[in-house]
Amino acid sequence: MNKLMIFSMLGCISLAFAASPVQRFTVDDSEVVAIQDATQSIAVALFGDDAGVQQALAKLYPRNSAPSSVNVFLIRSEKRIILVDTGLGNQHGSFLSHALDDLHVSPAQVTDILLTHLHPDHIGGMISSVGQAMFPNATVWLSQEEFRGMKMGSREAAPLMRNVYLAYQRKLKLFKDEQEILPGIVARLAVGHTPGHTTFLLNDKFLFVGDLLHAAVWQFPRPDLCTKWDADPTAAVAARRKVLQLAQEKELTIAGAHLPFPGVGTVKSGGDRGEFSFQPKR
Ligand SMILES: [Zn+2]
Ligand SMILES: [Zn+2]
Repeated sequence: MNKLMIFSMLGCISLAFAASPVQRFTVDDSEVVAIQDATQSIAVALFGDDAGVQQALAKLYPRNSAPSSVNVFLIRSEKRIILVDTGLGNQHGSFLSHALDDLHVSPAQVTDILLTHLHPDHIGGMISSVGQAMFPNATVWLSQEEFRGMKMGSREAAPLMRNVYLAYQRKLKLFKDEQEILPGIVARLAVGHTPGHTTFLLNDKFLFVGDLLHAAVWQFPRPDLCTKWDADPTAAVAARRKVLQLAQEKELTIAGAHLPFPGVGTVKSGGDRGEFSFQPKR
């Protein structure tokens, strides 16, 4: 993805920046903090112009855009401070660095960054405007499928991805599906949105789902509907159904990068409205 594509992606969503909300959750001995990096809404046009799809969307939520968000999550345990993705980055008005200040976390204290995937709204916060690592001591965890599929280390990689790679290459650790990458944190592939899109399961109860969904009001009831950002729609739909089914059955709490802030809640049956529904935790 080149710079133009990044801007066109940002152009399709409307971003608005307000005071940085932060919300805390407890997971056993760890604290999970949801940080709203930016607010955004998802335009109905991102689902394409198929008349049947547009009709289905209008029936569920008859507006031109749906509430969404850019959420970053911080996991704080006795020994580690972990970020799950890093938001848009300061050049795009990200609030992550202000939120970390408010939480009394200095960037140098961040021990690990778990990347769900390599899109700009997830890796933008990793480097400064001059390409320096914002989190100089962090080990960066990425699936080997995402590294290869997005050609991260190659000259073909988008400039932002390439700059992130150059800033962190010595700290980059590639993992396999189902690998326990840190104590209590298991990486699980859920590909389709990107070639190596990953979810992270904390203590068998809290699941970070990245970009599994972009518009809660439309995609919980209709997980078969994809925005144009899902690179492989067939795989993305299968992954969405599988993960939501699992979350419902195992009563997992899920945390999504683009679910309305704080982006945390549980998955229920959709009843008459569709396949699933989302019960936010506040
Ligand atoms: Zn994405
Ligand atoms: Zn995203």
